[in-house]
Amino acid sequence: ATEVRLASRPEGWPTLDNFTIVDTEVPRPGPGQLLVRNLEISVDPYMRGRMSAAKSYAEPYEVGKVMHGGAVGEVLESTVDGFARGDVVLHGLGWRTHAVVEAAHAARVDPEAAPLSTYLGVLGMTGLTAYAGLLDVAQMKEGDTVFVSGAAGAVGSVVGQLAKLKGAGRVIGSAGSDDKVRHLREDLGFDVAFNYKNAPVTEQLAQAAADGIDVYFDNVGGDHLEAAIEAANLHARFAVCGMISTYNATEPPAAPRNLTKVVGKRLTIRGFLVGDHFHLRERFLAEVAPLVRSGQLKHQETVVEGIRNAPQAFLDMLAGANTGKMLVRL
Ligand code: NDP
Repeated sequence: ATEVRLASRPEGWPTLDNFTIVDTEVPRPGPGQLLVRNLEISVDPYMRGRMSAAKSYAEPYEVGKVMHGGAVGEVLESTVDGFARGDVVLHGLGWRTHAVVEAAHAARVDPEAAPLSTYLGVLGMTGLTAYAGLLDVAQMKEGDTVFVSGAAGAVGSVVGQLAKLKGAGRVIGSAGSDDKVRHLREDLGFDVAFNYKNAPVTEQLAQAAADGIDVYFDNVGGDHLEAAIEAANLHARFAVCGMISTYNATEPPAAPRNLTKVVGKRLTIRGFLVGDHFHLRERFLAEVAPLVRSGQLKHQETVVEGIRNAPQAFLDMLAGANTGKMLVRL
């Protein structure tokens, strides 16, 4: 077995030196536990937060200990009624090839119903985040102009496509390369997309949204949030999902400098955590799984092979190498 441990806490951008890869004995399951061989593991932006000591909504990873996160794997041994060898389960002990999982923390998934990777992406945590944030938190309505940042990523790509499918008037996305911008326009049906690295976001958004925006789904924070406040119509609703532009910052960010405009524009800016929206999971799956099956909702994945490449996959995701969900296949 092989596992990835947190070697040290990063200051600013993490590097490979913050991780160690260790070969270990295959662990043994005790009562109530399953031995799982992981097949797909997730690397996600929130893991950057957990590498730091600062307490946040998720506990920090411990230095010297194996990291964890979403994973799908096959049961090799079960001591529990209801789980058998060969079952495929979704659980929270990624970053390792073999995991001993409490059966209570494992959910069986159907490998016939959808590719395993989708349970970590479009039909999993990131898809539910998009669904809950857009429809529940931002209360998107037909005809709304919707702006989503990080639009070519796992969450953002689902936000934009769902907004279109739900009758948004205009869907605008930003991403960090011209290739991603082309993908948003040509493959995912965004009405407008721009590369935030090409010119100031406020300028590009003003051009993309001459009549303003009604919903902003924020994955990025900083100057994207400032631009969205500027472009916001009266009573616009902002779902604040993440602020990835700040995760590796060592200084507090300057933007948004126009936060006081939240008052005059009567904006609703609401942060949310997907963990509070699991009650929507059944509805989300019932609605979104058929859209994925029929191809109406596309899901790109960027897949890296091998547990030893997991740290690099995580670093590459933070730097924007992924289109859609970044995954590690074992
Ligand atoms: P993504 O698949 O979007 O991957 C991260 C992407 O962020 C990169 O591909 C990169 O794309 C972009 N990025 C990196 N740095 C910057 C920057 N400085 N400015 C703008 N974009 C940047 O990840 P996820 O879809 O998993 O997550 C997206 C956001 O959602 C994150 O903020 C995450 O923390 C948040 N999140 C929140 C949840 C919640 O419950 N609230 C749950 C899940 C995710 P590019 O090439 O375009 O720069």
